[in-house]
Amino acid sequence: MKPRSLAILGSTGSIGLNTLKVVDQNPHRFQVKALSAYNNFELLEGQIKKYKPSHVAVGAQGLAHFKRIGIKGVKFYHARDCARIASLKEVDVVVLAMQGTSALMPFLEALRAGKTVAPANKEALVIAGDLIMSEAAKHKARIIPVDSEQSAIFQCLDGQKQKPVCVHLTASGGPLRNVRLNDFKRLTRKDILRHPRWKMGPKITVDSATMMNKGFEVIEAMHLFNLSIGQIKVLVHPESVVHSLVEFADGSLLAQLGVTDMRLPIQYALTYPQRLPTGLGKLDLVQLGSFHFEGPDLKKFPSLGLAYKVAGQAGTLPAVLIAADQEAVEAFLKGKIDFLSIYKVVEKVVLRHKIIKHPSLQDILQTDEWARAEAVREILNSKL
Ligand code: MG
Repeated sequence: MKPRSLAILGSTGSIGLNTLKVVDQNPHRFQVKALSAYNNFELLEGQIKKYKPSHVAVGAQGLAHFKRIGIKGVKFYHARDCARIASLKEVDVVVLAMQGTSALMPFLEALRAGKTVAPANKEALVIAGDLIMSEAAKHKARIIPVDSEQSAIFQCLDGQKQKPVCVHLTASGGPLRNVRLNDFKRLTRKDILRHPRWKMGPKITVDSATMMNKGFEVIEAMHLFNLSIGQIKVLVHPESVVHSLVEFADGSLLAQLGVTDMRLPIQYALTYPQRLPTGLGKLDLVQLGSFHFEGPDLKKFPSLGLAYKVAGQAGTLPAVLIAADQEAVEAFLKGKIDFLSIYKVVEKVVLRHKIIKHPSLQDILQTDEWARAEAVREILNSKL
């Protein structure tokens, strides 16, 4: 196999760092052609020296820094132009490891350029899933998800001739699975940021505590696998070893199991359809001994129920969900609102939105702005 050329957008975040670890594991298989990061240019500098990309996108401060120190052989771009490095001729696979809605443009540009896109980012697919999937089809570009659950479904469906009747997205249950609803109001940021299974960034850890993260994944799965909302079920599985399941007409379930490490789905997306050793430990089923499954508790986690409703109505509503949630979680992380107010803020903004049924990109971006402004207003009203 000739080495695959990678563009890693968001290379200093948790998925970006894991992607580079995958590269380190099989260095002759990959060439890092392009990197992007927003703020963390110190870390990015080390990555540039080690992986020698020819194209780098970074925020304004980083641009000034690299201009000052001068790095030969690298073309620099402002981070807001990172769609340009997602569509470079010499790139095979674009890893979308950046957070937030800013991933949407590079996602679309990469697809239009016929690249394989490995999205770890959720926002883009949730807010503009129809648009993304139609661009992918139009340009015959492949999307291989990096998120562990979506990767599991992708793997279970690979090579199948028939569509599944439904999929079961597994969820660890997050850090609050064993906390009683009555105790939610006493929760501190520290309690929330301690996730039992996955080590992730603060935003996604909070989303995992509210289970909004799973709600986003439900919407994502709808688009990625062309399913209706009724075909996507959530299954709480605290061991996080079964990464998801698909169910066929005869009742058969196929599941993908693996160690709880993001490097596994990342590497699969980078080397598909090949599989290579990962250097990670093997799953020891005997040592694990038993698995547990339970239904999601929608009383404790109303965000998940809200996401289902939003998915059912679609149009611009998922963009509202994403934007309001991002503002609310940020406010929580800054200590401006308490944990329970995250849901309250998001719900209020969602209920207030007038849906556009078949939105253009422009409609989606305008909705994003509207929802953020509305959420900020709600946050001010619900101040601690
Ligand atoms: Mg996930």
